[in-house]
Amino acid sequence: MRFSKLLIPTLKEAPKDAVLPSHIYLVRGGFIYQVASGIYDFLPLGKRVLDKVRAIVKEELDAAGCQEVQLGFVTPAELWKKSGRYEKYGAELLRFNDRKGNEFVLGPTHEEMMVELAGRFINSYKQLPANLYQINLKFRDEARPRFGLMRGREFIMKDGYSFHADHEDMVREFNLMEQTYRKIFSRMGLDFRVVEADSGAIGGEGSKEFMVLADSGEDTIVVCDGCDYAANIEAAKRAETDEIPEAPEADLMKFHTPGVTSIEDLAKYFHVDPYYIVKCVAKRAVYDEGKNEIILFFLRGSDELQETKAANSVGANELVDVTEEELETADLVPGFIGPVSIRRNPLADEQNRQIYTSRKASFEVKTLFDNSLKGASHMICGANEKDYHIVGVNLNVLEDEKFDDLVQVKIGDKCRECGGKLAYTKGIEVGHIFQLGTRYSEPLDANFLDRDGKSKPFVMGTYGIGVSRLLAAVIEQHHDEKGSIWPSSVAPFEAVVVVGNAKDEEQLRVGEKIYGDLKKMGVDALLDDRPERFGFKMKDFELIGFPCAVVVGKKLSEGKVEIIKRDGLVRVEAGVDDAAEKTAEIVG
Ligand code: ATP
Ligand code: MG
Repeated sequence: MRFSKLLIPTLKEAPKDAVLPSHIYLVRGGFIYQVASGIYDFLPLGKRVLDKVRAIVKEELDAAGCQEVQLGFVTPAELWKKSGRYEKYGAELLRFNDRKGNEFVLGPTHEEMMVELAGRFINSYKQLPANLYQINLKFRDEARPRFGLMRGREFIMKDGYSFHADHEDMVREFNLMEQTYRKIFSRMGLDFRVVEADSGAIGGEGSKEFMVLADSGEDTIVVCDGCDYAANIEAAKRAETDEIPEAPEADLMKFHTPGVTSIEDLAKYFHVDPYYIVKCVAKRAVYDEGKNEIILFFLRGSDELQETKAANSVGANELVDVTEEELETADLVPGFIGPVSIRRNPLADEQNRQIYTSRKASFEVKTLFDNSLKGASHMICGANEKDYHIVGVNLNVLEDEKFDDLVQVKIGDKCRECGGKLAYTKGIEVGHIFQLGTRYSEPLDANFLDRDGKSKPFVMGTYGIGVSRLLAAVIEQHHDEKGSIWPSSVAPFEAVVVVGNAKDEEQLRVGEKIYGDLKKMGVDALLDDRPERFGFKMKDFELIGFPCAVVVGKKLSEGKVEIIKRDGLVRVEAGVDDAAEKTAEIVG
């Protein structure tokens, strides 16, 4: 191909809203063009990279026994109603009607469609297992589309769904997909971690994400310095601490704490470690059909609430902040909410004793405790009375309370696997594999006849790859201050032959020859034959980031050309006849 004939509109200026290198270089390099917020056209170079990414994904999946299909992008709303997601999915789901008034959605993911297909044509255990996938458009009306291809509204995803007769076989496939994904991302030259992920409110027994390590990543990953434990912060767990601070000794009593509400101030006021203060995080949980509930999450003052864990634990679609007014209407005292209240017992009063009761008895609001508060003693908590806290509380008095893992792992916490120290790092989610079970097959009546003649719902797995997001992820890891540095496996072209002066016939002739040699050797090459200045063409090479350039220029009088490796801009000389071979070696 010739540069002069290709539509490669490179730009000097980056888009105003672009902050990430991948966004800046994809636009400036003429790979993509933004038509509307979160919607991009792929120009010839972008399409070539996209096709190479797709090809790698397809090759590895097909080798693992998966079958490619292509489903409609426009999906009947009826299927979404059957699965219960029509309401649940919220504003990211684009719903619309056709001219006859039939309801449709633009597929943000295709569980419903694929289950419908499998249910129709897979009827017997003899046809199982099956793993069907597509590489297709998705539409999610993201609240904040940004960072170019990283978070679009329209984007390309590989989504696969596997169907099994039993759980065991699904787990086998899940593990096979993990290995297959590892091969795919390694071939793209990515440095990634496979991390334990949040399985969402619908449960699911296991879920892993593939995270490309990059400071610009939107996800926080917890990693261990002692072993290969890695988890999304939304799912990360830790070992119980063995560095328990000294407990404050105090008898049970109510204390006047005027205006002291924050954990920090309370710790100072009582001279105690926040570990001994009960923190209350009040949230409004939003459920299907707009149902709402105030939930008080109790945890140790030394911990923070992990909202995804908390939302999953109560089965809410979303947790939102509550206002002080809302708390007051629910008979709660902002800043002084606690899990117990002291009640003066008239009989006990004579003996100058106080007893306390679970707070639940007083108000109709749901409570949930973090596991670390099970049987906690020497605690300080809000007294459910303005300007009062209770000290010396023993949470053993709580009856029928629910406990769960609600805390966010902190830097320096102890690893459950090896006792090592946990740290944070940032990642870009490029893939997600998920053990789904019968979450969709049951409501959508997708059944098969088992060996024993019984009708059963499919046991399913689901597997996604952010195909268009991968273009951005690759650049986040492979760029310098001049532009992209594509790994050969996904480069738009593996090498460019730059003719220094296209008006010089000899340079053009040699350029054509080397270009021809490269093609013969199987190198995916481009000839830059544009009548532009030499410096301009080199800038484009650096910006676009082909892995290698062969420069046919002034040195030709000595029979030499220059080969430049884009990574590090390392230069070597070569003769006209061995230039192609040397280039082929560099691009691998
Ligand atoms: P995120 O947390 O980044 O929004 P998700 O959990 O919603 O991702 P999945 O539903 O698991 O994503 O989709 C599978 C893959 O599709 C993701 O791993 C990601 O790589 C990609 N993806 C998801 N949303 C977008 C988007 N808005 N633009 C580009 N790629 C996306
Ligand atoms: Mg999302």
